[in-house]
Amino acid sequence: MFEFSSIEQYHAQLKEGKTTCRMAVEYFLNRIKDRQHLNAFIEVFAEEALQQADKLDKNRNSGSKTGKLHGVIIALKDVICYKDHRVSAASAILKTRPDDTVGLDFESVYSATAVERLLAEEAIIIGNCNCDEFAMGSTNENSVYGRVLNAQDETKVPGGSSGGSAVAVQAGLCMASLGSDTGGSVRQPADFCGLVGLKPAYGRISRYGLIAYASSFDQIGIFANNVPDAARLLEVMAGPDEYDSTASQKPLEKFFPSFGRSKMEAKFRFAYFEETLKHPGNDPEISSSIIQWIGQLKKEGHTAEPVKFELLDYIVPAYYILTTAEASSNLSRYDGVRYGYRATDKDPDLTSFYKKTRSEGFGKEVKRRIMLGTFVLSAGYYDAYYTKAQKARQLILKKIQGIFKDYDFIIMPTSPATAFKIGEMVNDPIAMYLADIYTVLANLAGIPAISLPLFKHSNGMPFGIQVMANRFDELTLLQVSHQMMQIQKGQLKE
Ligand code: GLN
Repeated sequence: MFEFSSIEQYHAQLKEGKTTCRMAVEYFLNRIKDRQHLNAFIEVFAEEALQQADKLDKNRNSGSKTGKLHGVIIALKDVICYKDHRVSAASAILKTRPDDTVGLDFESVYSATAVERLLAEEAIIIGNCNCDEFAMGSTNENSVYGRVLNAQDETKVPGGSSGGSAVAVQAGLCMASLGSDTGGSVRQPADFCGLVGLKPAYGRISRYGLIAYASSFDQIGIFANNVPDAARLLEVMAGPDEYDSTASQKPLEKFFPSFGRSKMEAKFRFAYFEETLKHPGNDPEISSSIIQWIGQLKKEGHTAEPVKFELLDYIVPAYYILTTAEASSNLSRYDGVRYGYRATDKDPDLTSFYKKTRSEGFGKEVKRRIMLGTFVLSAGYYDAYYTKAQKARQLILKKIQGIFKDYDFIIMPTSPATAFKIGEMVNDPIAMYLADIYTVLANLAGIPAISLPLFKHSNGMPFGIQVMANRFDELTLLQVSHQMMQIQKGQLKE
């Protein structure tokens, strides 16, 4: 029987002839069917995935050189464009074509650079995953396709906004998946579902073909079962791109084979913020587990020291002012004229046509953010909110840059709580926003961050630890992450 634990093990099995890409695709298609009620997938590309698998099997058997992601089965979040496939950002506004032909959804006219690069290394895209509308949310309850269930406990949310992508890996429906992380949408669902969730530095992976939420924050991220798998995907997708001027020109370090022994034994300097560990909003078991882990790191010979972070109270407000401002501008393109949903009533004037289309097409949370963003950008309030939030962002950035002069990593919880009950947060958007307290920092500062599934709460749910590194220092971040996962494995064996 086919079983998947890592890309390395899968590739070894393919080489030894113990399995085939077709067997792998069939295995995942069956699992997707069996677990349809989780609602992780919006669309499954079954026929296409099988055809691609057959092609890869044939090429491998004829001795052709194989790609780095040969036969690796990957799911995409529904905000990432894949040519000739539907994409909707889980929104009704992209559900029909401009000509109003009922039943025809919007199709991508080009593929995201990230997708092109996965395909060029022979990955198989198995489908499109559910998410919060336009990646706005923390529970995956803001989707036009309905909520997604956490496979560990189906009364709980998987987190958001990339909830479907997280559950696709958690429930074993694919080998790895892509999400997007503007303020934690990869790390927080990874935390809630017990996965590795990586947000690379801003600019590390091209945003070309990623539906924009807040362009100075957005970044494609990766869900995986283990750190080396995440590293493999990052290595393939990262790098400069002529279609995205914010994609970094910084040369790519080789993640493989740098997971060698000498690196594994490297000793690092960790900073942690006491404010994040003593925060009254934290689940006490999360705080105590992270404190214990800091002790463990010291035992392993690393340095871990407290650093004052007096800006903690500013990060959520700064994030929500700046991202909603950017969203209000980015989402102005959904006007019912160029593409997407178009209100059917023939309105006498253009303004009421726009109003009707956007009122009917966007969901409640998206409308809330567009209004908030428009408000903070309005002439009378621009300086009081938008300019002030930009200043706060600069202060945060300076503080973080200062910390990385003395330390290699910052460590903190990924989320103050484990997965919420379904419906628990829907009527309290402020409480939901505040729960983003530990993830938005990395997006404000543009630094890479990862959530590692180290813990299990007494309530039965998994939770993680978050590690952040200096801008473009993904290599050391992945090395230390791998090392931490090895320590945890050792502890489990004891
Ligand atoms: N939960 C955050 C928000 O609602 C994160 C979103 C994201 O990273 N896409 O904005």
